[in-house]
Amino acid sequence: MQGPTDRHDVAIVGGGLYGAAILFHLAKAGTDAVLLERTHLADGPTGRSSANVRLLYTTPELREIAAQSFEITTNFRQLVGGDNGFKRVGVLYGIAPDEAAAFEPLVERLAQEGRPIETRTVEETRTLVPGFDLDGFALTVWEPTSGYADPVGTTVGFADAARLLGASVRVACRAEAIEVDRGHVRGVRLAGGGRVEAARVVVAAGPWSRAMLEGVGRSLPTFPERHAISLLSAPEGSRGVVPCVWSDRIRRYYARPEGDSLVLLGGTTSQTRQVSSADELEPAVSLEESAEHVTRATPCIRALGDLGIRPGYASVYDMSPDGFPIADAVPGIKGLFVMAGTSGHGYKLAPAMARLVADLVRGRRSSLLNPFRIARPFGPTGELAA
Ligand SMILES: Cc1cc2nc3c(=O)[nH]c(=O)nc-3n(C[C@H](O)[C@H](O)[C@H](O)COP(=O)(O)OP(=O)(O)OC[C@H]3O[C@@H](n4cnc5c(N)ncnc54)[C@H](O)[C@@H]3O)c2cc1C
Repeated sequence: MQGPTDRHDVAIVGGGLYGAAILFHLAKAGTDAVLLERTHLADGPTGRSSANVRLLYTTPELREIAAQSFEITTNFRQLVGGDNGFKRVGVLYGIAPDEAAAFEPLVERLAQEGRPIETRTVEETRTLVPGFDLDGFALTVWEPTSGYADPVGTTVGFADAARLLGASVRVACRAEAIEVDRGHVRGVRLAGGGRVEAARVVVAAGPWSRAMLEGVGRSLPTFPERHAISLLSAPEGSRGVVPCVWSDRIRRYYARPEGDSLVLLGGTTSQTRQVSSADELEPAVSLEESAEHVTRATPCIRALGDLGIRPGYASVYDMSPDGFPIADAVPGIKGLFVMAGTSGHGYKLAPAMARLVADLVRGRRSSLLNPFRIARPFGPTGELAA
């Protein structure tokens, strides 16, 4: 079906956090851009994100991107606009004995770089989390100014700010195919008719990015992996049970307050697995699966055992083979870019990573993007999820 043609310099496919943030940075730089979202903003994994925000990364590029993002996240209203719901509750990691030797010098280096992060002895940690049983941990790492945010508010904040700067946002608008002619991007064909003519297209469609690129004969080594979130009712106050974002590196789960009266638990369960497509995901979380989270966490946070389990939800991590994002120009197709594979830890990186991608689209490649090339040797994962 032939429909109307819209013209922009850049079209972005995907109205999750990355698409919205790239749109904002392009608009701020004066580039005419349109965001195409098949349903509504943050409808994909972004809307299910725990949105934990931390600074602790091992590779220098991710440390820098996390730090630059942190600056935007913690000053969102002034630097972007709107409300990203950031809660500065602090992030605390319980470090296993076999990891202590690696974490101590890393945290020291981050602290020397001026990041608000420190190691604490188990004894020094007790006052931060009075109800926790910290037996078995070698030490803890404390980020006093980190926390968690609202992923939907963040996405809408970026999109609204972009609109105010003149960008277009089209929801209920599914990109059907990227149009390529003789090695150059020409635009995007829309489902139900119509097209957007654009010489540059950014695919930021999370776990749907792979299929979009397959449509132009390019492969992306990403895969969707199901992850569950459990919610517990804490009517006496969530922060009395879990005062901060807590990452237990022995038992591999995380816990945090979710507003005033819920506690949120995440981490792998027996149902964590690669799924064939993000559209075939079972979003419900059974009582049994939530009970797995609770059983894992109660040796440390005993009070969780007394809380009622509320319905949780599942979504997918858009995984890359090494757990690092993919942010690059697509080889062989001039004008095509991809931002995907954020592997379960993309919320906290998005504000600055999206700025780097917007710069790339505008012809300025930062060396900070070097580790995230689409064609790279994918080794085993080296980063912490969430
Ligand atoms: C359960 C869970 C917990 C997480 N917790 C954390 C955390 O604590 N901290 C952290 O840093 N990160 C976390 N993450 C990761 C983070 O949420 C993601 O990295 C980030 O949200 C990815 O955003 P995105 O924009 O790349 O993708 P998505 O959110 O997948 O957005 C892609 C969008 O593209 C749209 N789309 C798809 N196909 C088309 C099409 N053909 N046309 C138009 N639109 C299309 C979709 O509808 C969707 O809205 C978590 C993720 C999950 C699932």
